Parts: sequence; C-alpha cells; structure tokens
Amino acid sequence: MAEMLNALSGLPKALLDKLIQQRFAYRSMFGMERMEYAWTVIRTRKLPLVAPGDLAQTGQVQDAANFLKRAGVSSTVTQSKIQLMVFTESLVTNRTLFDELRQKAEEILKSQGDAFKLDVVVHPNDVPYGEQIYLGPQFQEIIDIAKKATSIPADRLPVLLVKVRQNIDIHGIAGEADGRRVVAINTDEPNPDRATLLHEIGHCAGLPHSNQNAPGKPSPLDVGNDFNVMAERKPNVARKFLNVVQGEVLAKAYFVK
Ligand SMILES: [Zn+2]
Repeated sequence: MAEMLNALSGLPKALLDKLIQQRFAYRSMFGMERMEYAWTVIRTRKLPLVAPGDLAQTGQVQDAANFLKRAGVSSTVTQSKIQLMVFTESLVTNRTLFDELRQKAEEILKSQGDAFKLDVVVHPNDVPYGEQIYLGPQFQEIIDIAKKATSIPADRLPVLLVKVRQNIDIHGIAGEADGRRVVAINTDEPNPDRATLLHEIGHCAGLPHSNQNAPGKPSPLDVGNDFNVMAERKPNVARKFLNVVQGEVLAKAYFVK
C-alpha cells in the first residue's frame, strides 16, 4: 500500500482520473479493490469509509493513514450509525434469525473499515398482520398496522421480519412504503451466509448488485466480486466484503447519521 500510494501520488491528476475511469475494464483483476482504495486516498486526501477485504487486518489502512499524516492531512474516519427499526410480523416462527443477521452485519461492517455501526430499535410487540407476503403493496399494509402502535422516525429504516409464500424463492427484499425504502426479511428461508440484512440495507441506500450499473449511469458502481455483500447470492459463497464506492453511497442514505 505504501509504495502504491507513493507511485500514484506522483501521477498527474489527469492521468489518475483516467485510470480511475478505466477501472471497470479491469475489475476482475486481482487487487482492483485495493487499487480503488489507494486512488481514493490520493484523490480525496482522506481515509475512505470502507477498507475492502483484509486491508485493515494487514496494516494497509495504517499505511494509508501514515501517508496522509506525512502529507499533513488528518486521517480519522468519521463513524456513522445505520439506524434501523425492526418489526416482527405475527406469523414469524424463526425468532432467532434477526440476531444472527445483525451479528453478521456488524461483523462485516467492523472488518471493512469500522466506519458504520448498526443502531437498532426492535419494536417489542408483533405486528398483527396475519398473512404471508407475496406482493409489494403488502409492505405498506404492514407499516400501516405498525404505525398504530408506534411512530416510525423519518430517519430510521424499517426492517420487517415476515413469512414469504413458499413458492417465492427469496431471502430478503428491498421494498417501499410511505415513499421510503423498507427491508423485508423472509424468516423461513435464511441464506446460510447471513449477509441478507446488510445486502438489503445496501439496496435501500441505492446500491445496485455488485458489478451492475449505477442507477442511471453507463458504468458499474463498484469493482466487487462474488464475495461482495452486494453480489447476487451464489451457493456456497459467503458474502463478506464491501468496497470504497459502496461506503460512499451508504453514507448518504436517509437512515444513516
Ligand atoms: Zn439484491
């Protein structure tokens, strides 16, 4: 990391910008996420919120911090809270899943730069909706019932723990209610990697699937691979990484403070 930063910082800005633009052509290359991190340090003169892969564990974030220090720039990362409000629909039988998903999300966030913490409010009473989920408008119906018992702050992302009809093969959904994004988790079909909560939070922040185009843009948003949290699920693949651009998008979500 130290050599990479020194080399990149010697490049003219125009050349650096061009390299950054071209990164998607090489995104399957080993180490692109690390390159993206280094580019971002040079370009923004800040430590990125996300340190992808093992950059933190292998001391490369410290290298970047030292590099910035030598350049006379502060290198502290501001921490943000991902604010959730969790509701359990009354038909749900798997009552331990949310804690498993939460634990995995916290573990991933901690290892990938530790700039985001979950701030979770769990509503104590079930939402008495009494139906399995198979249509998008049902999220609004559940939210409407939930609101009879409590108010949902405008800066918290509602997370609905539900049962989805058996013929619908999904682990989680980023839906919509009251004009804002909401997460729904299918409690009967958990993904073994337990990354579903963080994956759907990412969608609610506006993140596409890893390697897919950014909303309204001609190029992908990120250089992630199958192990990225925003990758589409694959059998026997545990998603556990984030990357720099995803952290930048997450930080701007309505529920991140
Ligand atoms: Zn998805």
